[in-house]
Amino acid sequence: MAGPVKTEAVVLRSMRYGEADRILHVYTPMRGKISAIAKGVRRSKSRFGGRLEPFFRLNLELHEGRSDLMTVTGAETVSAYAKLRADEGALNSAARACDSLGRVFDSGEPHPEVFNLLCSALSLLDEHPERATDEFQVAFRLKLLLAAGFAPQLAACASCGESGELVGFSPAAGGVICASCEAGSFELDAETHRFLTDALGRPLAETPSADPRVIALADRAISETAAHHGQVRLKAIA
Ligand SMILES: [Zn+2]
Repeated sequence: MAGPVKTEAVVLRSMRYGEADRILHVYTPMRGKISAIAKGVRRSKSRFGGRLEPFFRLNLELHEGRSDLMTVTGAETVSAYAKLRADEGALNSAARACDSLGRVFDSGEPHPEVFNLLCSALSLLDEHPERATDEFQVAFRLKLLLAAGFAPQLAACASCGESGELVGFSPAAGGVICASCEAGSFELDAETHRFLTDALGRPLAETPSADPRVIALADRAISETAAHHGQVRLKAIA
């Protein structure tokens, strides 16, 4: 399928290449993750200006040739997320969110809902840079896992389906576990269970706060589930 491609996209990564070029990883609604080269972009007179930087939301024009790497032929800013860009914590949080997304959705499959999730996360960080917390990363990752089809099961024992006392978390079973099914699980207390349930079920903007111990345990549940069911390695949150 060679020829021109027009798509909305968010820049996940932007890497220097050669004298003046950049290689971009972008995420699109209908073509998933795309790699593209932008030529001459680091020259001062580049027609792309500074808009091929991470976290820009763009209308992109690309040329698809025979290689896996498309060529950027045009770019228009949809949102620059200027306030996010001015805040170190928000920038860092956006970078971590984009890294997680690129790991879980590392293909050309269409997932418009994941594109929308990314745009709402960036808007939230732009409007409320103070929300750039570890809790936000937990909630964002849970929503990524949900979209990928392997969100942890939190409502009942992931092994036997009983909803009695849930005492642990089993990455292999893909969720919380009751006392009779606890083999291969690690201990998960009620507070962490509640935090996971709220972070998965509520909008990103309503992610509850939690103490570092709870966040670390939630992060373990998420990253081990992603590794077991998606063969995805996520970086540690804290
Ligand atoms: Zn059970």
